[in-house]
This record gives sequence, C-alpha cells and structure tokens, in this order.
Amino acid sequence: MNTYKVPELRIHAILPESVANGPGKRTVIWVQGCSLGCAGCFNPQTHSFHQGTRVNPLELAQEILSQQTSIEGITLTGGEPLFQIEALESLLSTLRANSSLSVILLTGFEWDEIFRLQGDRLFPYVDVIISGRFIKEKRLAQSFIGSANKEFHFLTTRYSLSDFQDVPVCEITISPEGNTFITGIDPLAW
Ligand code: SF4
Repeated sequence: MNTYKVPELRIHAILPESVANGPGKRTVIWVQGCSLGCAGCFNPQTHSFHQGTRVNPLELAQEILSQQTSIEGITLTGGEPLFQIEALESLLSTLRANSSLSVILLTGFEWDEIFRLQGDRLFPYVDVIISGRFIKEKRLAQSFIGSANKEFHFLTTRYSLSDFQDVPVCEITISPEGNTFITGIDPLAW
C-alpha cells in the first residue's frame, strides 16, 4: 500500500508572538531557502536550501493551534515561502480548517509569477499576500514589508490597507534563552 508522506517545511526561525509583522499579535515563521537574489537582501542567512530546521507542517500546525487563543494569526516570510508550496499547503489548510487564525504571506515573487508557480492553490488559506522583489533603492528603513514597491493583495475581506498602517515599524524581542529577534528592518544595520 502506498502511503503519502507530507513534505517537510524547512524553516529558519519562528517567533511565537510579534506585533510588528502584520495586524495584531501574530506568530511569525521565517522559512529557509531563497534563490531570488534581491540585491541588498536584509535576510541572507535564510537563502541556503540546506540550512534551517525541517519540521512536519502538520505538527507545526498543531503547535500553532494550541496557542490560537493568544494570537490573531500567522505571518509567513523568509526566505521564500513559495519554494515550499506543498508543505505550506499542508500547514495552511490545517490551520484554516481548525481555526479562525488569519494568514499573511510575504513573497518575493511578483503577482504574475505567483500564478505561474501555484495557480490559486494556496489562495483559499491566505488572507493577504504581499508580493514583489525587495528593491534596495525603494527600501523602507523600517517596516516588515521591506521596500515600497511591494504590492498588497487582499484575498478575503478580513483586512484592508488601513489595518497595516498602525503596525509598529520595528520590534526587538529577547527570548528567555537570551536570543534576540529584530523584526521590521533593523535601522542600525544600514
Ligand atoms: S525574496 Fe526576500 S529573502 Fe529572497 S532574496 Fe529577495 S528579499 Fe531576500
């Protein structure tokens, strides 16, 4: 008998709670792996497809669901999430079927490229897609979207552009283990 094995999701990091990566308090998942090569990328440590941690997306979904009362949703970023469509579909379909958590997906692909890559396969599970390459000349010194050319695509009525206007531009989190996360763009690094 053939058994279907759910593809693993390669992740760079997870921040359980953030208020600077979309509206409300959100779990942020940085996936590992990107070959888009945007000049001036602020997250080069996420590029290798051989690093990071491989996780079962169904187990990750259960972990997020166990915390669902303390967050509004999740934000997927990277790295490039759309290089891992099958694993993402397992994660996101499980979340959508079992919660009202919202999903924001940041991708370096342009809108037409997204269709060529995955059609509308992930659309039923995503509320907002923020698309487009990071363009150094258009970078925003602060903000989780990176550069001003990025396009917002609202796939559900859950959010509108005004919901993103009050998102803090930068956030520094120190975990109990002493690990520091800086989200949004680190203005000190430029
Ligand atoms: S898509 Fe994102 S992670 Fe990939 S190179 Fe561009 S800015 Fe960096």
